[in-house]
Amino acid sequence: MISMTNVQKHYGDLHVLKDIDLQIPRGQVVVVLGPSGSGKSTLCRTINRLEPIDSGEIRIEGELLPAEGRDLARLRSDVGMVFQSFNLFAHKTILQNVTIGPIKVRKAKPADAERRALELLERVGVTTQKDKYPAQLSGGQQQRVAIARSLAMGPKVLLFDEPTSALDPEMVSEVLDVMVSLAREGMTMVVVTHEMGFARKAADRIIFMADGAIVEDTDPESFFTAPKSDRARDFLSKIL
Ligand code: ADP
Ligand code: MG
Repeated sequence: MISMTNVQKHYGDLHVLKDIDLQIPRGQVVVVLGPSGSGKSTLCRTINRLEPIDSGEIRIEGELLPAEGRDLARLRSDVGMVFQSFNLFAHKTILQNVTIGPIKVRKAKPADAERRALELLERVGVTTQKDKYPAQLSGGQQQRVAIARSLAMGPKVLLFDEPTSALDPEMVSEVLDVMVSLAREGMTMVVVTHEMGFARKAADRIIFMADGAIVEDTDPESFFTAPKSDRARDFLSKIL
């Protein structure tokens, strides 16, 4: 599904991704953990080429992620991304936020896009807000709309970069619940998060990064009960 081979990336002198090799099969839920600055966001951003890589290759369902052009736009729309800061279109209604991608990129008929958007808004529990603007919603509601907007494109994989980090504590679970249900339905997901409850409940696999490298790659049970590296033990001692 996603295949990264010998991926290297620098920001100037900083070696931010060090020889990343990562194969993620369809339906797998991967939680990416690691200290701040370890390269988690950069890893996610390279998967849909928001960031270029220096060398190595990334394939989505076998197809090489190109540097630019039409094939990139098509592959990118197969890879949904949900950010910490929601990134909804401020001057569009909630419903328009969810229909715009399918209409513009997928060339969906507006009536079809709207029908599908309403189903997705129902699914994430914000149908009653459909005619409001993002600023009128709580952070938790906005993030659920952002998830619905990603789903509207029919992605093959969803990337989440700290989707609950900007939320007030009481809104975290409403977003995580939606993510857990997606995970249970078999969505392929890469999730950068500090929510260990989500990692234990929904992850099939934990990737632990430090200094731009994958230091551990294991199942949640092994990671939380018997981390192998000093870096992971140190990380866990600070957050658990
Ligand atoms: P994480 O998400 O694990 O906190 P990041 O992937 O955001 O880590 O960043 C990894 C490293 O790359 C950090 O040292 C960060 O300062 C640096 N970095 C991130 N983005 C840029 C950029 N656009 N230009 C220069 N350095 C960057
Ligand atoms: Mg980050």
